[in-house]
Amino acid sequence: MGGAGTTNPDRQVPSGVGFTAVQNGMDYITVAVQQLTWRPGRQRLPNPGPQQFKYAVLHLQAAAEILLKAMLLQEDWTQIFRNPEEATREALESGVFQSCNRKDSIKRLKRGGVDIGRAEQDLDKLAAFRNPLQHFGLPAPIAEIRALTASVLDFLVSFVDETLIPRLGGQDAGDAEFDLANIVDKLPELKEFITVRMNRLQGEGLRKLEIRTVVCPFCKQWALVVDNEGPGCLCCTRYKRNWGENLPADYAASVLGVTTQFGENSRIAVACPRCGDRALVPDVVVAAARATPRRFCFSCGSTDET
Ligand SMILES: [Zn+2]
Ligand SMILES: [Zn+2]
Repeated sequence: MGGAGTTNPDRQVPSGVGFTAVQNGMDYITVAVQQLTWRPGRQRLPNPGPQQFKYAVLHLQAAAEILLKAMLLQEDWTQIFRNPEEATREALESGVFQSCNRKDSIKRLKRGGVDIGRAEQDLDKLAAFRNPLQHFGLPAPIAEIRALTASVLDFLVSFVDETLIPRLGGQDAGDAEFDLANIVDKLPELKEFITVRMNRLQGEGLRKLEIRTVVCPFCKQWALVVDNEGPGCLCCTRYKRNWGENLPADYAASVLGVTTQFGENSRIAVACPRCGDRALVPDVVVAAARATPRRFCFSCGSTDET
């Protein structure tokens, strides 16, 4: 296996096969999130209850296995066969072959430079829950399962956003981004997910970026960072890539309480003297100086003080 840019053309996965794997993985995350955000209506039931957690665990486990393999496919499709020496394109395209297990997927990804870090332990635990869950009900207290699902979801969102999508090409990447955006729509409802993710981000140094960090209009966390590469919320992943166009207007509406027409940046933002984009908004509060609002550019991150 090689990293991006050193791919042997014989080892490139046919686009249809690669995309189907990604799409299946995203479908499983979508269903897991639906279960985790399930509300029982008027029934006096816990929300979500044991049944929802059961399906959430099973779907997250499937999502993780498939998305790890989807990444392996992008690196070198022969590696998803249990025995790569026996890999053939015919078998790959028919889908009839013995594929490698999760442990092998992780080992092979690591060998190619893709590290999944602390998620490995969580995925082991999730896999260990699978059988007892299918036959005997919840294998651990709900609080433990809730924490585990939040942690695995944190890993999967980052893995798709930061590792898999950048490796996909053209339309495949666009479609995966679309699926991720739909998943992300639901995430602010998942308090455990937000807590796990924000704790991790703070541990990884989000605080160092405070001069460029503002409240995200979507998930409402102090996690929207605007740097030289543009904006992006480290918590919910919104406003990255091409989703950032409406950011000044969204911030004005959601955080400053200034209503604009949808996407109408012109009433709220002026041209930034540094980058020239119409994205400079007055009265923005950055995490580093919460008592003194300032002008802030949502395109390049410059403020009055810099
Ligand atoms: Zn956000
Ligand atoms: Zn700017």
